[in-house]
Amino acid sequence: MPIEPDRQWKMLIDGSWVTTSSTYEIIDPNTTKVVGHAPEATVADAEAAAAAARKALPAWRDSSVGERCALLGKLADLLEGRVGDWVDVVQAETGATINITETLQVGGPTVDRFRYYSTPRDVDVPIAPFSSAATTLGPAGLIGAMALRQPVGVVACITPYNFPLTNVAGKIAPALAMGNTCVIKPAPQDPLGILLLGEAITEAGFPPGVVNIITGSGPEAPATLVDSKDVNMISFTGSTPIGAKIYENGAKTMKRLLMELGGKGALIMTDDADVGQATGAIASVWGFHSGQICTAPTRVLCHRSLYDQTVEGLTAVAEMLKVGDALERDTLVGPVITEMHRDKVEAFIQSGVDDGATLLAGGQRPDLPGYLIAPTLLADCTPDMHVVREEAFGPVVVVLPFDEDDEAVALANDSDYGLFSYVYSGNTSRAYKIAQQLESGNVALNSVQPHMEAPFGGFKMSGIGRDRGVWGLEAYSEVQAISWLA
Ligand code: NAP
Repeated sequence: MPIEPDRQWKMLIDGSWVTTSSTYEIIDPNTTKVVGHAPEATVADAEAAAAAARKALPAWRDSSVGERCALLGKLADLLEGRVGDWVDVVQAETGATINITETLQVGGPTVDRFRYYSTPRDVDVPIAPFSSAATTLGPAGLIGAMALRQPVGVVACITPYNFPLTNVAGKIAPALAMGNTCVIKPAPQDPLGILLLGEAITEAGFPPGVVNIITGSGPEAPATLVDSKDVNMISFTGSTPIGAKIYENGAKTMKRLLMELGGKGALIMTDDADVGQATGAIASVWGFHSGQICTAPTRVLCHRSLYDQTVEGLTAVAEMLKVGDALERDTLVGPVITEMHRDKVEAFIQSGVDDGATLLAGGQRPDLPGYLIAPTLLADCTPDMHVVREEAFGPVVVVLPFDEDDEAVALANDSDYGLFSYVYSGNTSRAYKIAQQLESGNVALNSVQPHMEAPFGGFKMSGIGRDRGVWGLEAYSEVQAISWLA
């Protein structure tokens, strides 16, 4: 589908496509040109979307799991056929390289998440009978019980800009399967693919109000969802500071929360690690959506005996990767999302240099169009540096040496974050032992590939709760115990 900058995009509320009195520009990070105008939701629009989801809840909650899963399967089929149609729009608004757009933005995980939750799964748990003595409440007897999973209600899904469709699919697929209704508020930078998803949702036959989509460029509309009594749960993916704000504001209405927040992934290389394998994994920080990935292994903790070899290898790789036009097939590092974000990442790199890190690659703005940042490597870092403690959300890797495994564990845990860590070692049992000591929701051994059905989420400031696989169904449900006299 070619980009139509003058297309009038509309929001989906209560089954209708609605216009707004104002819009804002969507900028292609690759060309820095305007590729669309997205609707600017008002507070009233956010309230209407929440009210529509509330109105649709009873019928959707009472539908059978088979009916809900059949619609999710139909949606997965529709999306599979749309990959080619949506690539242009999603590539232009995210700035992702064409290869990443085709395989990971539009196709792949987005379709897979709807497909996975289109299979009904029993999440209710029978409980062994309890032998009760006679009490003032009744005679002696066996008490039977079930722990049932009930939908939470209306879920507001507030998402970040990096992988708009995948992030939203990962939330609404399990939420809808469990019988919840949703309001989606995508990130301001790249909401157009989500509006296309809304068209597919309508076409698949989801009843009006079950999924509502509002877009906007400011915090008023999503903050309204956080305050709304019509909304039971906030499923948020984004930065830790905004997550903390939502946690605080949501307390007034006792919101259920799923929080998927920032990360500063540690990658430990023990003295028996395969340096070539680890180097390839670390280079994914640069080549995978320009490091705009919460789980990226951006903080390398390398055994001193491998340090020089690793740093040399990484420098060589950083200089080899083609940076530039996201539409050229051989480009590996495309732009970051906005000019403002590029400025922020550049200031982040400069702070590392000012603090005494050695800049071995990157650090200079490529003289090409687009919000580009060259793959950047900062070596000789120390644990107190800002570049070691905070996430850049850009193509920046920091390296620190260590001598003993215990020291590596302490360094890895010396972080406010705890989302995804990695251990590279020639001895998987040693790697497993290290992994168990890491304060991290996920740890991968000798790989940066996640298991898409394993529970996903963060320790510490990286979040609250888990999703994916059956944990997704649990995240979007309340436990209800029903007991009876057997
Ligand atoms: P962000 O600035 O936190 O924004 C995320 C969403 O929050 C946007 O839709 C934003 O919309 C909304 N928002 C802003 N203020 C709000 C408020 N007061 N109340 C409710 N919602 C509000 O994050 P980002 O820059 O898009 O994404 C980058 C961050 O996401 C990084 O920190 C990254 O680590 C994290 N991330 C985490 C995961 C994970 O799974 N753990 C995955 C991907 C990304 P408006 O701007 O329109 O207000």
